[in-house]
Amino acid sequence: MLELLNITKTFNAGKSSAFTALKGIDLRIDGNGVTVFRGPSGSGKTTLLSVIGCMLRPTSGRMILNGRETTSLPERFAAEIRRKTFGFVSQNFNLIRGLSTIENAMIPAYPTGQRHSVIKEKAKGLLERLGLASKAGQKVEDLSGGEQQRTVIARALMNDPSYIIADEPTAHLDTDLAGAFIEIVSELIGEGKTVLIASHDPLIYNSPVVHRVISMRDGAIVPEAE
Ligand code: ADP
Ligand code: MG
Repeated sequence: MLELLNITKTFNAGKSSAFTALKGIDLRIDGNGVTVFRGPSGSGKTTLLSVIGCMLRPTSGRMILNGRETTSLPERFAAEIRRKTFGFVSQNFNLIRGLSTIENAMIPAYPTGQRHSVIKEKAKGLLERLGLASKAGQKVEDLSGGEQQRTVIARALMNDPSYIIADEPTAHLDTDLAGAFIEIVSELIGEGKTVLIASHDPLIYNSPVVHRVISMRDGAIVPEAE
């Protein structure tokens, strides 16, 4: 269970360029399911997902993850929680060119200190599962867009996170590939994962796989009655 209590985030606080991107977010996400954050560009979706994923510290407010407050933890503990709890699917893939598909998928597991052979087996299994077994040794820049995204998903799953955070995952995908992404999400839900997606793509927020759509505007959650 994930709970946000009056979370705010002000960038460049104290300067003339100060900007408050989150203005008091209260939110509770119980267990398994898909939650989509939608809203216009600049409404704070990426900032909110970054706070939830312990990548960005809020300016004020608290986040409680499985009964534990995360907001005040020193960075090394936050990094550990981030690594174990969250898998990230970024809009721009952030794959490392020059490395193969399997090498990219393996990256998040290195800080865990597991043996290289163990990490490699795990990555192999994930690539197989995502239909990428034959691409394991190929450089990521030679993959198609859909294959690159599945590589990103394999990478996100490396450490068995209970939460998958996807920021505009279909921004660079055509309709068929967006459908394939939704299918993968539905499998992940079947495995008990919780998926959080920021998207203004109707293919995503109108998808039957989605349990809850939260609208954001100007750094706040729009009340559901509106
Ligand atoms: P969204 O993902 O909904 O498009 P963001 O969370 O990326 O919105 O951004 C919300 C607002 O915060 C935007 O106005 C953006 O310019 C601002 N912002 C985001 N990141 C930073 C940053 N690192 N420094 C200053 N302003 C930022
Ligand atoms: Mg964004």
